[in-house]
Amino acid sequence: MATMRVAAKSEAAPMRVAQIPKPGGDFEIVEREIPTPGAGQVRIKIQACGVCHSDVLTKEGLWPGIEYPRVPGHEVAGIIDELGAGVSAWKKGQRVGVGWHGGHDGTCRECRRGDFNSCRNLTIPGISYDGGYQEYMAAPVEALIPIPDSLGDVEAAPLLCAGVTTYNSLRHSGAMPGDLVAVQGIGGLGHLGVQFASKFGYKVAAIGRGPENGALAKKLGASIYIDSQSTNAAQKLQKLGGAKVILATAPSSKAMSELIDGLGPNGKLLVVGATFDPIEVTPIQLISASRSLQGWNTGTPADSEDTLHFAELTGVRPMIETYPLERVDEAYARMMSGKAQFRVVLTM
Ligand SMILES: [Zn+2]
Ligand SMILES: [Zn+2]
Repeated sequence: MATMRVAAKSEAAPMRVAQIPKPGGDFEIVEREIPTPGAGQVRIKIQACGVCHSDVLTKEGLWPGIEYPRVPGHEVAGIIDELGAGVSAWKKGQRVGVGWHGGHDGTCRECRRGDFNSCRNLTIPGISYDGGYQEYMAAPVEALIPIPDSLGDVEAAPLLCAGVTTYNSLRHSGAMPGDLVAVQGIGGLGHLGVQFASKFGYKVAAIGRGPENGALAKKLGASIYIDSQSTNAAQKLQKLGGAKVILATAPSSKAMSELIDGLGPNGKLLVVGATFDPIEVTPIQLISASRSLQGWNTGTPADSEDTLHFAELTGVRPMIETYPLERVDEAYARMMSGKAQFRVVLTM
């Protein structure tokens, strides 16, 4: 409440913010002054922000060095409403997004080699600075992603983290059109992974727990659905010739470990579902068919731009549940329950 009184007295108009006061704390809706963009930044009037499982890092203080209070959110869609000093390539009124890649220094060893995704000083909205669970945010220009007119704000937001992660990992996976690609998990990441894999021309096997998502997986473009509760999924994949790639999206290291034997020769387990417990694999499993295990870390703003254009071109869209910012508690709990169909998005 103190924050609200201070903001109301100031000259600047207040805005509503959903912040985490301390590691493990509950969300607080408070008023703050609308931020002024610094040099090389723009201010975004936020329209929508996706609620991603990685927001748990901010909520529970699992990422080192977060300063609190902190506003989570790295799936931001909105409109530029103010330009900071030195900004010329972006316009007021332009629709833009910001994803996990919230800025790079342009000077470190990796940036000097053009690998901005691996910047040693990468900044992340909602972790390094206040993210999208608020009405306005300031963001550096190198983090901005133009949003095509044909994509709405709530559709675009999840494509800037869940979308780019699945699109970008698959397009660099080495799988060719016609190859068997399995997508483990039909959730926030997986339901997009199945769509992208299908549009890339792969033969898509979707792997879920239980029969519930079978019809949906086929509607999204899978030609095969494997219920891992009633079927040994690795054996099933081997019967189909072995997977070239298994995109592991559900955050269960045990489920991922069980799939490694489903990889064909030179097959790759491509890991995007984030957990802290170890994946188990024996050297023999890897050596016997020259298999590999790879993690994939989302992508740059340019990769997100490609994701949006591909979605526009092919009709790939996230399935979403929307909640107004005031109901952030409910929205976050819904995402954490794993029952959302399939991405939760806050609207401002
Ligand atoms: Zn995310
Ligand atoms: Zn760098």
